[in-house]
Amino acid sequence: MSRTVVVTGSTSGIGLGVAKAFAAEGANVVINGFGPADAIEATRSELDALGSGRVLYHGADMTRPAEIEDLIATAAKTFGTVDVLVNNAGIQHVAKIEEFPPEKWDQLIAILLTSAFHTMRHAIPLMKASGKGRIINVASAHALVASPFKSAYVAAKHGILGLTKTAALELAEFGITVNAICPGYVLTPLVEKQIPDTARERGITEDQVKTEVMLKLQATKEFVAIDEVAQAAIYLASDAARSITGTHISIDGGWTAQ
Ligand code: NAD
Repeated sequence: MSRTVVVTGSTSGIGLGVAKAFAAEGANVVINGFGPADAIEATRSELDALGSGRVLYHGADMTRPAEIEDLIATAAKTFGTVDVLVNNAGIQHVAKIEEFPPEKWDQLIAILLTSAFHTMRHAIPLMKASGKGRIINVASAHALVASPFKSAYVAAKHGILGLTKTAALELAEFGITVNAICPGYVLTPLVEKQIPDTARERGITEDQVKTEVMLKLQATKEFVAIDEVAQAAIYLASDAARSITGTHISIDGGWTAQ
């Protein structure tokens, strides 16, 4: 029987890559995120055609707990349960702490950290009932190390690693694993959008942001590809990874080795 996979923030970037990889494996996938309705429907039907499972879109806003509850309830109602939960939705904001808009702080913490608490608290009873489950949190190298001007992002990403470990301990005896993936820089819309702001904050050109900021610490000097992250998620969701829990996989081209 097909597994059911929920991927938050999967209309773009890494989440879309993860959703595609699971759809291609024949899973039922619930995609989520923002974008123009026609583009989302085109993505949904493209993913739906990839494998034998069905692909459904749910537009829950990850800052709204009631909508998150409905996302998980809809997955369960449509497909019977949730086998794999991938918490991925994210945004970025780059500014000095003293100039960081408080509402942006709240929004980043809500999307990057608190939403995972809500998806998990609704998905865990379903996973416990079926005696198995996989929770995969797309964290970041910024869950392990910091960069200036990214206070909310770094705080939320460090937080999600703590949530990952706590949930892993609570769920270890229920056949449910909880892990994080910590990518370095992946060239997605989230990264492209922060290039002009970083250039302004640091007083450098946009090209310098790529080479001297983003890839400076990434020892490979290359952006990570979306599919590398997607395949790590496929592995963590596999039976072969059943004893891997409460930890993270870094895919950061050597960034956090230094
Ligand atoms: P992206 O901008 O391409 O995609 C983000 C997705 O989240 C989109 O589908 C967007 O619609 C969705 N989203 C944003 N706000 C939302 C909300 N309130 N409710 C529901 N969905 C919402 O970004 P990405 O680079 O693919 O980032 C995905 C995840 O990967 C994020 O958690 C990000 O922090 C993490 N990450 C990215 C990189 C990178 O270099 N791109 C590196 C490490 C970690």
